[in-house]
Amino acid sequence: MKYMTYFPDLSPYRYSDSTQSMLNVGWLAREHPFPTGTAPEGLVETLAELAKHSVNVQRGMHFCELCPDFQTARQNTSRCDTFIGSGEIRVPGSKRVTYASPAMIVHYVEEHSYLPPAEYCEAVMRTT
Ligand SMILES: [Zn+2]
Repeated sequence: MKYMTYFPDLSPYRYSDSTQSMLNVGWLAREHPFPTGTAPEGLVETLAELAKHSVNVQRGMHFCELCPDFQTARQNTSRCDTFIGSGEIRVPGSKRVTYASPAMIVHYVEEHSYLPPAEYCEAVMRTT
């Protein structure tokens, strides 16, 4: 079972040799506390829509570490008909920055009350 790499929110994204300026959001891990709260209305739905068009970065398949057991985590690699167990969402932000999130972020917000940084939520809502 492969866990995702943890990155703090808004840390520079350094995975590919992309020259774009990208920031990490939503790379959660069990041993790192993360902010929780009520997501802005429509955030989950918008993220779910973005997840349908996730970019397929070959980081392998991953499972949610926050789910109570592996069985649950395995079921949660899909949301409705969208596979969120791999791939990344890219959200264009202001100031020529792009946010990189795992597609799994939909699940984190919906099921684990994860509240992404405000600037990220705003950028997501601007994509609609
Ligand atoms: Zn979970």
